[in-house]
Amino acid sequence: MDILNDVARQVSVAGKAVVEKATDMKDTAKINMEIRSKEDFIQRQLAEIGRLVYEQEKDKDSTEYEEVFLIKRTYEEIDELKDDLAIIKGSTKCSSCGKEVSAGSTFCPHCGEKIDKED
Ligand SMILES: [Zn+2]
Repeated sequence: MDILNDVARQVSVAGKAVVEKATDMKDTAKINMEIRSKEDFIQRQLAEIGRLVYEQEKDKDSTEYEEVFLIKRTYEEIDELKDDLAIIKGSTKCSSCGKEVSAGSTFCPHCGEKIDKED
């Protein structure tokens, strides 16, 4: 009977160890999640600081931040790509408001400007 009691005790101890390990893993996952959440928070704050600096600097003639220049240039590249898309879709750009106007339009649906046919 002592042997059975020993086995029962060992199973109990092993079970407790499994529970403790599972609890540790849960704690570890919880802590890792909290760390990630705080790191995400910091990233969002840094992005916000960047946005504020960009808004402050973008209209200046010169800036000490090369990134502001790079962002402005990238916006220009996006505009050029949008022009390419418009050409592929057969649409054109309104000469007055600059918005995209579908092919065959006589007037701009955004501002009412007469659309010049370029063909
Ligand atoms: Zn227009």
